[in-house]
Amino acid sequence: MIRVTAVHPDSIAAELGLCEGTELLSVNGRDLEDFLDWEFLTAEEELLLHVRQPDGEEIEFEIERPLGEPIGVSLEPARIRRCANRCDFCFVDGLPDGLRDVLYIRDDDYRLSFRYGNFATLTNLKPHDVERIIEYRLSPLYVSVHATDPTVRRYLLRNPTAPEVLPQLRGFAEHGIEFHTQIVMSPGVNDGPVLRQTLEELYEFGPAILGCSVVPVGLTEYSKHHLVREPTAEECKAAIGLIDERAAVARKERGINWAFGADELYFRAGVDLPVADIYDGFDQVENGVGSVRWLQQRIGSVSARLAGWEGKRIGVVTGTAMAQLMPMVLKPLAEITGAKFELIPVVNTLFGPSVTTAGLLPGTDMQRALQGRPELELALLPGESVNDDGLFIDSMSLDLLARTVPMQVRLSWDFSDALQIPAAA
Ligand code: SF4
Repeated sequence: MIRVTAVHPDSIAAELGLCEGTELLSVNGRDLEDFLDWEFLTAEEELLLHVRQPDGEEIEFEIERPLGEPIGVSLEPARIRRCANRCDFCFVDGLPDGLRDVLYIRDDDYRLSFRYGNFATLTNLKPHDVERIIEYRLSPLYVSVHATDPTVRRYLLRNPTAPEVLPQLRGFAEHGIEFHTQIVMSPGVNDGPVLRQTLEELYEFGPAILGCSVVPVGLTEYSKHHLVREPTAEECKAAIGLIDERAAVARKERGINWAFGADELYFRAGVDLPVADIYDGFDQVENGVGSVRWLQQRIGSVSARLAGWEGKRIGVVTGTAMAQLMPMVLKPLAEITGAKFELIPVVNTLFGPSVTTAGLLPGTDMQRALQGRPELELALLPGESVNDDGLFIDSMSLDLLARTVPMQVRLSWDFSDALQIPAAA
């Protein structure tokens, strides 16, 4: 059963009399479990929909509609699948006490992997999940492999019953499922020869594995430092060497780069970022892989639409990681717009200074950084630092922050989104 949270005006659902609180029970006799069932089972032109209205009345509707016309309902969010692992580097273990309950959920959900590109380990799949992935052809999936060696992987995941990943992926690949993969690199565990072997075995798996990224493990003040540590510059450099080695083979044999390092890996190694061409379409940009090059490309592609900012003073709030790399983006942006950009790197006081990503910046830290800056006309805040309810990780709202700083603020994911809207008078 899935509950309706809203009905879109002038939609099929509105015409049928569905409303907030209607329970969607089945389509063509098949019970509905979540948004996947809803989307896949209602893809037909003709369908039999069984619902229960808030007053308890059950109704069956025979629906005929032009292909592609949506039924017009918003659904309650799916209950998140809990993770079956206990990785030493888990972000949840690195959270301080007192945050929103939802942040402490260890999610590992193949549905969100398919829909949003969240990485999943696939270690919590039940036979029914496997059937759904195949039946609905949920592809590509984003999979955290970490190591192809089953013993190393089980150790990393702290899950002695984790299934072997390569046979598992093979079972899906035989049904046409493809994968983007990642390796979170924990020094002394899955770097060095293990990393070489993992990259090699994933590549040799065949074209169903579309690519693999290597991301250095990231910890907070609260992480299990007695069990896991962050890699040194030398260890990151060594990993880049292995990525380059594998990418050279992939370019020669398949004409793609296939193996990538997260921007953070280069930053920690003190090595220049690779050029944009190597990222094979930036499939893992959300994972911090090629973010800087992607931003540069994005800005270049919309430069004609970034007008009206000449002479304006714009603050760009970011975490300390991107602060090192951001000048590579702000310089061309200043040339295109004529604005003066000022980088405002903010130290994360909630998680500790070792947490350098912009997406985890608390609202209070950004507020403090902006309050004494009346000379700025606009401040751009990292879009990923706010959830769908407009809250930062420390539960401060964007509205509150906007009301308590002396300049206009806008969220931005790629600069072009915020700067295509004209400057406020
Ligand atoms: S897979 Fe590991 S890192 Fe991810 S949520 Fe589970 S325990 Fe945490």
